[in-house]
Amino acid sequence: MTSGTRLLLIGPPGAGKGTQASRLASAFGVPAISTGDIFRANVANQTPLGQKVKAIMDAGEYVPDDITNAIVAQRLREPDALAGFLLDGYPRTPEQVAELDRVLSAEHEALDAVVQLDADTDEVVARLVKRAAEQGRADDTDEVIRHRLSVYEQQTAPLIQHFAQRDLLVKVDGLGAVDEVTQRILAALAAFGVVASR
Ligand code: ADP
Repeated sequence: MTSGTRLLLIGPPGAGKGTQASRLASAFGVPAISTGDIFRANVANQTPLGQKVKAIMDAGEYVPDDITNAIVAQRLREPDALAGFLLDGYPRTPEQVAELDRVLSAEHEALDAVVQLDADTDEVVARLVKRAAEQGRADDTDEVIRHRLSVYEQQTAPLIQHFAQRDLLVKVDGLGAVDEVTQRILAALAAFGVVASR
């Protein structure tokens, strides 16, 4: 099926991807799929996958591509994702981009847009430190936050250029109130020709 909307949300840790992902997904009537959430749920439930990835996540490293790719390919085959999806936090490496392209082209599907949620480093660090105090996420310590940002800069930020070259990139400023940012993203997508159904 090719009718639905297929979106990616890309941006540094702390840019507010998770919050915006669920809002955008409901606006488009598609599931929000967050690899971070999938991994965290597996860690919380102490599944074999969770046991494998816990130390990697706690250190702020990326889970190996083969594991991450398999999880996403399986999730995208579930019925609710067949008519569209919003992927939050995937792909984050060139290998993940290549795998997603393979999965989609095998189904004769394509991405509609890649939303880049922009935020400056001081702002994202401040947000993550605040979240650490509120939620106690194991990877939200000062040292791990800094490491996650540098992993993002090295491995994921270059993908933005890649998506720009494919004419898929919609860049949005992530600074401001949650509602404001959601409206900004929806307006930017509409201007790009991707319109929410609800
Ligand atoms: P954030 O973007 O704030 O770092 P996420 O919830 O998206 O938070 O990800 C948390 C952690 O989960 C990452 O630091 C990484 O260990 C793992 N992870 C999530 N998505 C991926 C991915 N696409 N590839 C590799 N590791 C991932």
